[in-house]
Amino acid sequence: MKSEHGSALAATAGFTDPTSLYVHIPFCGSRCHYCDFTTFVAPRSVMDGYVEDLKRELAMVSSLTSKPLRTVFFGGGTPTALDSEQLALVLSAVTEAFDVEPTAEWTVEANPGTVNEEKLSVLRERGVNRLSFGAQTFEDRLLLAIGRSHDSETIESSVQLAQSRGFTRINLDLMFGLPEQSLDDVREALNRVVQLGVHHVSAYWLKVEPGTPFHQWREAGLLPLPGEDAEADMYHLVRETLKQAGFHHYEVSNFATEGEMAEHNLVYWRNEPYLAAGVGAHGYVNGTRYENHRVLQRYSADLMKGTRPVLETNQVDAHEAMEDTMMLGLRLSEGVSKRRFLKRHGKSMEAVFGEAIDWGLRNSLLTWDQDSIRLTDRAWPIANVVFEKFVE
Ligand code: SF4
Repeated sequence: MKSEHGSALAATAGFTDPTSLYVHIPFCGSRCHYCDFTTFVAPRSVMDGYVEDLKRELAMVSSLTSKPLRTVFFGGGTPTALDSEQLALVLSAVTEAFDVEPTAEWTVEANPGTVNEEKLSVLRERGVNRLSFGAQTFEDRLLLAIGRSHDSETIESSVQLAQSRGFTRINLDLMFGLPEQSLDDVREALNRVVQLGVHHVSAYWLKVEPGTPFHQWREAGLLPLPGEDAEADMYHLVRETLKQAGFHHYEVSNFATEGEMAEHNLVYWRNEPYLAAGVGAHGYVNGTRYENHRVLQRYSADLMKGTRPVLETNQVDAHEAMEDTMMLGLRLSEGVSKRRFLKRHGKSMEAVFGEAIDWGLRNSLLTWDQDSIRLTDRAWPIANVVFEKFVE
């Protein structure tokens, strides 16, 4: 357990110690055609070595906070690509290195087809209380076209297995704007999600990232994307269908039923600090953002030497921090509170961003909601246009 930690980094006044931890598990069974995440297809021996590296890093990272953790998030990659023994080791490494609140939210990302009774038992026994499955779509032809390694039936059987093992907090990721995806495909996915009885949905636009097969195919004219108008219709359909099904649209891409918002992700959107461990992971501590090595050998070599595997750090200056608070906070339906902004940054929001706020109000894209400024309903589909106004 964590005890003596006066945080070296958190000693500076004005910054709070992080209470959230992200742990990156960079392994997948195969690689999806749109993916640019730090992830590898690796044999068991490499995964074993990585688990040992993570244990070392978690012990080091724990000295960056004096507070107990309130949220822990295992992302990837596919954390459930680890076997049950490896999962048990990394979960235990967190509780050995940190104090964790008894009511903490523990989320593990999983892919359909990578969970079984044994793994789910290990997760439950070690405190995991939330699962996030990458479903993306329920059309088998689309799953195949984007390089997913599961079919739609496997999405349902994995979610149902988790539910039968006592997991009530389940998120499903969906994607829209996929090649040859129709509005009916999106409607079908939403219906299936609602039928499965999950309480959280993340619905993302496909972004074609450099270095991915999709990027190559698009450059060659081989990627039949639906186009902006169709994507706008899809987003509208997602919002309306999920609202009717009792979900609250609380972030640009996220929907939750009452009390089911993702606490860990709220930390990012509220621009609060968080710790991160794992290859390529990003953290934010004491006003500094850090990024770990993305190359597994470099990451591992640093840990073997007894040093943190940090590739680069960026001390966020005062203005950048204010921009982050606006850009991230406006993603939320709760918006950005004037009072919290002043307390956090020592300046009033209107004094710094008066012009952008006036522009948003004039164009009915922003509105005041008591103490907070937030997006209007018509601004959600074009949220990026608003965010840009807050960046120099
Ligand atoms: S499962 Fe996720 S992390 Fe793994 S390759 Fe596919 S998109 Fe990337």
